[in-house]
Amino acid sequence: MSLHDIIAARIRQDGPISMADYMADCLLHPTYGYYATRDPLGAAGDFITAPEISQMFGELIGLALAQTWLDQGAPSRFTLAELGPGRGTLMADALRAASRVPGFVEAARIVLVEASPVLRDIQRSTLAGFAPEWIDTPDALPDLPLYLIANEFFDALPVRQFERGQTGWHELRVGLEGDRLLRGRAGEAPQPALDHRLDDTQPGDIVELCPQAARITESLSTRIAAQGGAALILDYGDWRSLGDTVQALRAHAPVDAFDTPGQADLTAHVDFESLAQASRRAGCSHSRVTPQGVFLERLGITQRAQSLVRARPDQADTIAAAHRRLTHPEEMGNLFKVIAIQPETATPPPGLMP
Ligand code: SAH
Repeated sequence: MSLHDIIAARIRQDGPISMADYMADCLLHPTYGYYATRDPLGAAGDFITAPEISQMFGELIGLALAQTWLDQGAPSRFTLAELGPGRGTLMADALRAASRVPGFVEAARIVLVEASPVLRDIQRSTLAGFAPEWIDTPDALPDLPLYLIANEFFDALPVRQFERGQTGWHELRVGLEGDRLLRGRAGEAPQPALDHRLDDTQPGDIVELCPQAARITESLSTRIAAQGGAALILDYGDWRSLGDTVQALRAHAPVDAFDTPGQADLTAHVDFESLAQASRRAGCSHSRVTPQGVFLERLGITQRAQSLVRARPDQADTIAAAHRRLTHPEEMGNLFKVIAIQPETATPPPGLMP
C-alpha cells in the first residue's frame, strides 16, 4: 500500500477531494505523510530554511522577542512558543542570544507545537537543557502571556483552491483518471469567504483559502489580546495571494504535486491579509507586512555578521553568503515577509511598524 493507493481508494469511494484534504493527507498522514516520516530540512533533505542557513536569524528573532517582553513590563511567567520548530535550531539560537537579557529565559515556559514525531526527537536533542514541552495544536497553549514565533509553518497548512467563474467560484478538486491523480473543477457556487476577492479577480483567476491559518491566528490572537505577548510570523507570500501557489519540492527541485504523494514537500504562499483580519477579529493589532530582508537589516544583521567575521575570519565568505541569502531581494529578502500580532495597546516588536 502507498499513499497514492490510499488516496485513490478514497476518491473511488467518495468522489474528488479538496486540495486541502489532499495536502493534509500528503503532509500529515500518520503512516505515509511527508512530515510524519522524515526530517525534510537541510542539504540532504528537500528544502532549507532561514534558521538552517545561519545562527544570525534565530539570534535576532530571540532578541526581538526579548525586547518585546521588556517593552511589555517583563511579565514574570510567560510562554515562549514556536509553531513547527523543525530541527529546533531557531529556538536554540534565540535562547542563546536572549539569555543575555536578564530574567528572560528563567521566566519562559518553552512550548513547541509540532506534528512530526521524527522532528520532535531532533528538537529534544537540540534543546536538551531547556526542558521544552510539546503540544499538538496551538489551542493547547498555556494561559500565560504568549511570545510566539512561526517560521515557515503557515505555508505548510493545507489550502483550498477556487477558480473564479462568472458570479461565483469553482472549487478545484483532486480526482482520478484511470489510476492517475489530477485536478479538476467542481460546479460554480457562491463562496462568502471570497466575496472580497470578486473585486480584484477576473473569471479564470485562481485564489486560495487556508481555513486552518485563519483559525490558528484567531486563537493565538485571542490569547495575546487577553494575556499580552506577541506573535512573529515569517513566511513566503504576500498581502493578497493570487493564482495557484501550491508547490511540491523534492531534493531541492520542483516536482509534480500529484506524482509522488507523501514524498515531496507541499507548500502554498501565505495570504497575510487573512492573518491580519483574523488578528483584528480577536481584538489584536498587527504590524505592517514587511519584507524579511528589511526586517533583519533593521534588527542589525549586518552588525551581527561583522562581529561574527571578527571572531572567525576564516568563515568570512560563508557568513557573507548567509547574510546575502537571508536579506538580498533576489534571494529570500523579498519573497519572505514578516507580520507581528500584538495587543491593541502595545507597539509592534522591534524592526516592525504599526
Ligand atoms: N520552522 C522550521 C521548520 C519549517 S518546516 C524552520 O524554519 O526550519 C514546517 C514545520 O512545521 C515542521 O516542523 C513540521 O513538522 C511542522 N508542521 C507542519 N504542519 C504542522 C501542523 N499541522 N501541526 C504542527 N506542526 C506542523
